[in-house]
Amino acid sequence: MANQLLEVKGLDVFYGDAQALWDVSIHVEEEAIVALVGANGAGKTTLLKTISGLIHARRGEISLSGKSLSNLNPKEIVDRGIIHVPEGRRLFSDLTVLENLKLGAYVPRARPFFAESLERVFSLFPLLKNRKDQKAGSLSGGEQQMLAIGRAMMAQPKLLMLDEPSLGLGPILVKTIFELISTLHKQKTTILLVEQNVNQALKIAQQAYVLKTGKILMSGRGEELLVNEEIRKTYIGERGIKR
Ligand code: ATP
Repeated sequence: MANQLLEVKGLDVFYGDAQALWDVSIHVEEEAIVALVGANGAGKTTLLKTISGLIHARRGEISLSGKSLSNLNPKEIVDRGIIHVPEGRRLFSDLTVLENLKLGAYVPRARPFFAESLERVFSLFPLLKNRKDQKAGSLSGGEQQMLAIGRAMMAQPKLLMLDEPSLGLGPILVKTIFELISTLHKQKTTILLVEQNVNQALKIAQQAYVLKTGKILMSGRGEELLVNEEIRKTYIGERGIKR
């Protein structure tokens, strides 16, 4: 059996008095793609933010390779190897593509690998190499998403968390992004993927969790959930993204 990388146990998370997550537990094995799906407002982003240390859980435990992340701040969690690509990409739009990539490698554990990380990112995204001196803000939406993922790869993630990477992209780019995620998986990157494109996400995920109003409704192998009648009816319409 593969080694467990991330373990999340019994999380309760609140915004003020409003509870957003109830007793949420998930685990991510090394080198797997784990998908987190669910409707708008189900709590997917809240869970990623809690793992990143941006929000503190009121109850529960998060650990990476058996070591607790409790009481660590977001920078310390990045230093441990959890890299979060948030929804909306958050690039430095006035900086060039190359400058954005360099910033991705600022974490101490990634710095020694700068040259090889850059080569890897440029081979994954030849387009970024061609545009390395262009301002990030002048890239198209799809190119910006690739840069955001490329910047995260520069940090040599042990766990790469992607929040809605295909959101707002046209069908061809959505396909490109999913192919890219599969390539990263083949290269042994461990990925926790939040997606509104439930059909595609379940196709590539070894393990998946369905969140509903802050609780885990169901979990299983991606291919099992893909054929589950309730999932198909609720989350996968004819166009694959019905909520
Ligand atoms: P989406 O696909 O729309 O991003 P999501 O599954 O990621 O949805 P969250 O953004 O985690 O859901 O939201 C979970 C719940 O927490 C929602 O009820 C939302 O309104 C609430 N929430 C999220 N952020 C905040 C905040 N900063 N303050 C108060 N409530 C919040």
